[in-house]
Amino acid sequence: MAAKDYYKILGISKSASADEIKRAFRKLANEHHPDRGNGNAEKFKEVNEAYQVLSDTEKRSQYDQYGTTFDAAQAQGQGFGGFSGFQQGNVDFGNLEDLVGGIGDMFGFGGGRGRSRKAERRGKDIETAITIDFHDAVFGIEKTVELYKPVSCDRCNGSGAEPGSILKSCATCGGQGQVQQTQRTVFGQFATVVTCPKCSGEGSEIKDACSRCGGRGATRETKQMKLKIPAGIDDGQTIRLAREGEAGERGATAGDLYVTVHVKKDPRFVRDGETIRTEVRIPYSTVVLGGSVDVETVDGVVQLKIPAGTKSGQEFRLKGKGIPHLKSTSRGDQYVTISVDTPQSPTRKQRQLLEELQKEGL
Ligand SMILES: [Zn+2]
Ligand SMILES: [Zn+2]
Repeated sequence: MAAKDYYKILGISKSASADEIKRAFRKLANEHHPDRGNGNAEKFKEVNEAYQVLSDTEKRSQYDQYGTTFDAAQAQGQGFGGFSGFQQGNVDFGNLEDLVGGIGDMFGFGGGRGRSRKAERRGKDIETAITIDFHDAVFGIEKTVELYKPVSCDRCNGSGAEPGSILKSCATCGGQGQVQQTQRTVFGQFATVVTCPKCSGEGSEIKDACSRCGGRGATRETKQMKLKIPAGIDDGQTIRLAREGEAGERGATAGDLYVTVHVKKDPRFVRDGETIRTEVRIPYSTVVLGGSVDVETVDGVVQLKIPAGTKSGQEFRLKGKGIPHLKSTSRGDQYVTISVDTPQSPTRKQRQLLEELQKEGL
């Protein structure tokens, strides 16, 4: 999908107000309406599309940020084996397209280019969530997700027809798959052709419904799915599994499955993007004289050299001991903050030595 300039289509500036957008839309939609002698359906659709996006504050800011290249945005996620898409936050490109299609339907242009009849009976998306350990979020893990959902009926292969039965022409549309409808819109009354509601545009009806699914083409079953969680995933991020949602009606495309990943906290580590922050308590003598200290990392315990004269609060970097980047093999760093341990109940000997130090002005 080539990037379209919605502002240009409506002939407005990037800073146009909601009112300006509405006015530009009404004027252009009226001008290009296909029912007018000199109308232009393509332009009309374009104007509608632009308006749908720019009139919605959320969609508009999304558009300003990402443009209309939805396919490219999703394709970026293809790199993770087993995933068809990866979403950060709640950017949902699919809905935007649905919405654009939606306005098309309203004016009778639905079912046109790029929106097949089957797409209209697409299965519902499913949203679910799983919780994983901190360590598994850092290194990635494969999990099994179990869902009770409509799946394609294996008796009729999702067609809804009893095997061997024949299809008959739809009585409502006479096999055309489309019916005429009169619609009232802001521009007046228009006769439009819409997808037949009885057969969903199929043009045919099933004579004998499948005995297993009753003609729906889908049955509810418990399904287990393997989910590969990539190394570096953060709490609240969502993984999309294409066509693992609910089965579509009578063989239509299944919906998608969205799995939000929750990551349990680990008291030893604080995550900050790809950085891990930890604190280590060391005795006063070590910061003064120098030495080494054991530090916990997600890879296990490592020894950290403490130079003589280290201050409390000073930070040391452990390169590559942080969180892996989602889209590369490199890793973030771990920062260790030094905290000087104040002895709460020194032994008699420690006390004597400390008193000596005090006399020396330390
Ligand atoms: Zn069936
Ligand atoms: Zn029909």
